[in-house]
Amino acid sequence: MKKAYINAHIPFSNANAFIVEKGRFTHVGSKQSILKQTIDEIIDLNNYTVLPGFHDSHLHVLGIGKSMNMEDLSLDDTIDKLIKRMQSSDKNPLIGRGFHEGQFQENRSLTKIDLNKISTKKPIVFYRVCGHMVVANDKAIELAKASRTLPKGENNYDFETGIFKEEAIAWIMQVSGKITKARIQEEVLLAQEALLANGVTAVGSDDFAMYDVDFEMILEAIQELDIDGKLKLRILEQANIPKLENLKRFIDKKYVNRTFNRYRMGPLKLLADGSLGARSAFMREPYADANTKGIRVFPKETLAALITTADQAGMDSAVHGIGDAIIDDLLDVYESLDPATRSDKRHSIIHAQLADKAQIARMLALNVGAQTQPIFLNSDIPVLEPALGDRRFETYLFNTMYQSGIKTTISTDAPVEAINPFDNLYVATTRKSIKHKNLEPFLPEEAFDLKDALDAYTHVPAYFSYQEHELGKIQKGFLADFIVVKNFKKDRLLEAKVLTTYIEGEQVYQS
Ligand SMILES: [Zn+2]
Repeated sequence: MKKAYINAHIPFSNANAFIVEKGRFTHVGSKQSILKQTIDEIIDLNNYTVLPGFHDSHLHVLGIGKSMNMEDLSLDDTIDKLIKRMQSSDKNPLIGRGFHEGQFQENRSLTKIDLNKISTKKPIVFYRVCGHMVVANDKAIELAKASRTLPKGENNYDFETGIFKEEAIAWIMQVSGKITKARIQEEVLLAQEALLANGVTAVGSDDFAMYDVDFEMILEAIQELDIDGKLKLRILEQANIPKLENLKRFIDKKYVNRTFNRYRMGPLKLLADGSLGARSAFMREPYADANTKGIRVFPKETLAALITTADQAGMDSAVHGIGDAIIDDLLDVYESLDPATRSDKRHSIIHAQLADKAQIARMLALNVGAQTQPIFLNSDIPVLEPALGDRRFETYLFNTMYQSGIKTTISTDAPVEAINPFDNLYVATTRKSIKHKNLEPFLPEEAFDLKDALDAYTHVPAYFSYQEHELGKIQKGFLADFIVVKNFKKDRLLEAKVLTTYIEGEQVYQS
């Protein structure tokens, strides 16, 4: 089957038509040249825009699916309104996500007392927007206590306030029900639907730490979807395996770089520090507004042992690093790797928000990529000055990274931020917040050109899945993953809308 698509507007290209055959672009050029070929079917795109499918290089597929089953807590401006609205939710257990103390006129976080007002009869757990903290009601605590274990890390929980952080979250989340392969698959498919509707055809995804189960259960659940042909989306697993013994098991089982069909095993993913919003990103100097330098999740030697083990087994790494001190740690670790094994790897730092210019030079010299999220500025612009003072002027230097030659991708970290690629492109190319419209753009000289931003959102990510020769471009020989978009204009990106999404020539979404 040879399908010709004509009258396409392909930005930054002279072509306006292409042919798809057996899942790949076989001709890309002018309408006249395309129509000279023998063709089975012609599709007129009426001058709508065609882009390569978006490739969101770092997000959490399972997290997106999981959050779609939760109540959205970001909608109320007072705690009272939130309580009233949640009293009418019929969900049991009632799991919510996305609250932020700044959203409430009361200007405080939620505690157990608020949640007990919603209900004392059913378990309730609410995630803060960062996903690193939850609040639970008495019923949830009572049910979780029945498991007879205690949460991990004594500083991570407080039964009095009902607040649980980091690794203690998995303990309280037992109340949300048993984790099964079927449930994982249901959540992956929910997320897939949302991603395809947003024109995202490939992702780098961190899923293994989403639930307190062995990584095998999650891996096999997604692999089964892939075998059954239900997985349309391309997923590069960013294998979140923070324990050395488990990483060795992953290696022994020969999972390193394994490719099933659309599901591939990618880098070792580690979470090395916290976030700027929570003042837990690990900094050289204390925050301007908090008496802390943030947190280092692993001692440096542990970080080195994990990354070195991966590197020697032929596995890349992609490590969450936000603060400048954790980026120092990471760069030291990369520098310490055997150049013989390091040189053919594609290691990267996810976020790299507070990398300064000297660190960017080191990243380039060590061939360490950057997986950035311009959309974070949407929430972070108001936070920068209070948290960082003058240090803020050397942060979020994403265009500098891209222009310097560092492999720099644009991604969302969904569900931390929404999936919508056009919002992200808008912030990447304007450095403005969508939520806080009145604020000045932050370091506008760091705005990407649209052409570069699209490259960082389509073709550069394919480098991290070793597919740069076949993925992320509308070009002869490349995989026919593309989207048709309405209202795609450089200065009106927020109005753009995906009409159809194709993967290997198969239509997988229609608006
Ligand atoms: Zn993430």
